[in-house]
Amino acid sequence: MIARTHDLAAVTALTVVVLAQPLRSITLATAITALIANQIGGIAPDIDQPTAPFWRNLPIGGVFGKLIGRTLGGHRFLSHSLLGLALFGFLAKLLLTFMHPIMPHVDVSLVWWAFMIGMVSHLVMDSFTKEGVPWLLPIPFKFGFPPLRRLRITTGKGVEKFIVLPLLIGIAVWIIASHYNEISLFVHQYIKQ
Ligand SMILES: [Zn+2]
Repeated sequence: MIARTHDLAAVTALTVVVLAQPLRSITLATAITALIANQIGGIAPDIDQPTAPFWRNLPIGGVFGKLIGRTLGGHRFLSHSLLGLALFGFLAKLLLTFMHPIMPHVDVSLVWWAFMIGMVSHLVMDSFTKEGVPWLLPIPFKFGFPPLRRLRITTGKGVEKFIVLPLLIGIAVWIIASHYNEISLFVHQYIKQ
């Protein structure tokens, strides 16, 4: 899937998870950091792709991208599996623990969850594509939905751009519209300075 689809899927998944729980107060710093972490999580698995937007935006990103891609076993390998999820989750936890002293108003455990939700949404979305996802590495089998490869989506082609993306936008708008009061209450009363 293209980065835009992943960005949208990540924030939609985060919204659903937040709405599924009783509202609780968080700081504005936590809200912003969690949103950023969620978006990073949403594209993180594609660092195994030298052409990923993540690398393209860095000056010598191409070189690094190739190197990291090779380390992770090439595209749609380690970073696209449950094992990779655990590894990235562990590294994210380390980084957040290390960064906590410089951002004391941020609830790092919520930020970590937001990152993980973004990552899981990425693997779920990629499962709808023809390539599938090697969820159970080291078992070298790529899973996809629907199981019949022919019925799955080709990344970046018409179906993704003109059906999946608009459908995702529709779902996001529907969720926001149907929970408008709750979201408004959350933004106005539960996000503190
Ligand atoms: Zn991917």
